[in-house]
Amino acid sequence: MADDTENPTTPAAPQMAADDFRRYGHAVVDWIADYWQTVEQHPVQSTAAPGAVAGALPAAPPEQGEQFDAILADLDRVVVPGLTHWQHPGFFGYFPANTSAPSVLGDLVSAGLGVQGMLWATSPACTELETVVMDWLAQLLDLPKRFRSDSAGGGVIQDSASSATLVATLAALHRASGGDWRAVGTATSTGAAGGYTVYTSTQGHSSIEKAARIAGVGARGVRLVDVDPVTLAMRPDALRTALAADLAAGRRPAIVVATIGTTSTTAIDPVAEIGPVCAEYGVWLHVDAAYAGAAAICPELRWTHAGLEWANSYCFDPHKWLLTGFDCDAFWVADRAGLVEALTVMPEYLRNAVTESGAVLDYRDWQVPLGRRFRALKLWFVLRWYGAEGLRAHVRAGVTHAAWFADQVRADDRFDLVTAGPFGLVCFQLRDRPDEVAEALLRRVNADGRVLLTHTRVAGRFTLRLAVGGPRTERRHVATAWQLISDAAAAS
Ligand code: PLP
Repeated sequence: MADDTENPTTPAAPQMAADDFRRYGHAVVDWIADYWQTVEQHPVQSTAAPGAVAGALPAAPPEQGEQFDAILADLDRVVVPGLTHWQHPGFFGYFPANTSAPSVLGDLVSAGLGVQGMLWATSPACTELETVVMDWLAQLLDLPKRFRSDSAGGGVIQDSASSATLVATLAALHRASGGDWRAVGTATSTGAAGGYTVYTSTQGHSSIEKAARIAGVGARGVRLVDVDPVTLAMRPDALRTALAADLAAGRRPAIVVATIGTTSTTAIDPVAEIGPVCAEYGVWLHVDAAYAGAAAICPELRWTHAGLEWANSYCFDPHKWLLTGFDCDAFWVADRAGLVEALTVMPEYLRNAVTESGAVLDYRDWQVPLGRRFRALKLWFVLRWYGAEGLRAHVRAGVTHAAWFADQVRADDRFDLVTAGPFGLVCFQLRDRPDEVAEALLRRVNADGRVLLTHTRVAGRFTLRLAVGGPRTERRHVATAWQLISDAAAAS
C-alpha cells in the first residue's frame, strides 16, 4: 500500500521549526513572568459577563494556520479579562490553588516529553520518578511507614482529591465484597439490606457522595455522621452507632472517610479515635487531607495528623498549598496489592514481560483512567528547588498571616471569630446582624477588586472565610483585606 506521506500531491503536515519554537517558547515564558509580576494590578475576580469570553471568539476554527503572535495577543485580549486570578496575592477564596515557577517548568518538560506512563514499560522513568517522589513526600510529612513503597503500600499521583476518594472507595468496596466486584453496584445500590454503606461526617466533602454514586453504592448508601457542635469534628460515638445500626439492618459498611481540614472550616476529625472503631468493624479508613495535608511538612503541625497509622489510605493536594500547580493529588495506600486487585483489567494489547515478572509498578492499576501524564516531574522540581525548608517557610507564612488576621477579628466586637487555625483559614461572622447584611458586606469587600473572600454556613449562619496560602501574599495584603472588611462593617 502506498505511503501517503511520500505522495508528492499530499501536502506535508506543518511543523513549527525548532528555532521558532525556541523564540515563541521564550515569549510564552516571558508572558507568564510578566503576568506574575503584574497580577496584583488586576481585580482578583473576573468581572466578565456570562458569554463575554465566548463572544470574543470566532464561531469556527481557522482553516489556515495563524501566526503565533496573533495567538499570544489573544491571551491578553480575550483570556485575561475572563480570569479570576488565583495567583493574585489578594486571593483568599475557597482554598488556595497555588503554583510556582519550578512547578510550571516541570510541567513544561512533561508537556514536551509527551510520554504516557500508563505502564512501567511505556516509560520507566515516569513510574520510578513518581515512586521516589511519593516516598520523599511521605518522609517529609512523616507519614506512617506502611505508606512507603518499600513496605506493602505506596503512593501515586492522582489528578485530584476527588479521584483519590473514588479510588479508595472502589478498593474498599472490593475488599468489603471479598473481591466479588460484579456484585457491587448492581443489586446492592439502594441503601437497602445487603447494600454497601459509606460514612463521612456532615462536613465531609461532596466528592465522597459523588464517589459513592459513581461506585454504585448510591447516595442512599451514604451516612453523614454527626459532628461536635463546637469543633465540627466527627463524633466517634456517632460513627459507632451508625455502623452498628447498618450492620444490624443487614447492610455492609465499606468505608469511612475522615477529614483533616474540612472544606468549610478546616475541622479535624479525631482519626486516632475513629481508627479503632473502623478496625473493630473491619471498615476501610480513608483520610482526606486535601488542603491541610501540606501542613504536616511542619513538625509543629503534625499533631493534626495524629492517628494516621490507622488509615488504609490517605491523600492531600500539593496543588492546593504546596506550590505545585493543578493537577497534583498525592494518594497513598497501605496495601497496594488490594488496590491493584480492585482496579486491574489486563487486555492482550497491554501484556508485557516486565509486568508479568511482577518486578515493577504499573500505575494504570492505581487510578481510574488508563493513561497518565508525567506529573511527578513538576513535584520533583518543586521539592528540589524549594527543599523542605523552603516549603515549610511557605506553609508557616500562610499560618502566620491567618493568625494575625484572626487576632484582628477577635479584638473587634463587631465580629465573632468562628474558627481560626491551625492552618491558613479564618472563619468569622458579623455579630448580631442578619445574614443579608453579612452577604452585602462580602459583596462590597470583593467589589473593591484587591481581595477575594468566599463564604460558608456554620450552624445555619452566613460565615465569611479568609484562606491564606498564595506564595505572593504578604502581611500588607491581609491587612488590606482587614481594612476593607472593617470599613464595610462600619458602613453596614
Ligand atoms: N476534600 C476536601 C477536604 C477539600 O477541601 C476539597 C477541595 O477543596 C476536596 C476534597 C476536593 O479536592 P479536588 O479539587 O482535588 O478534588
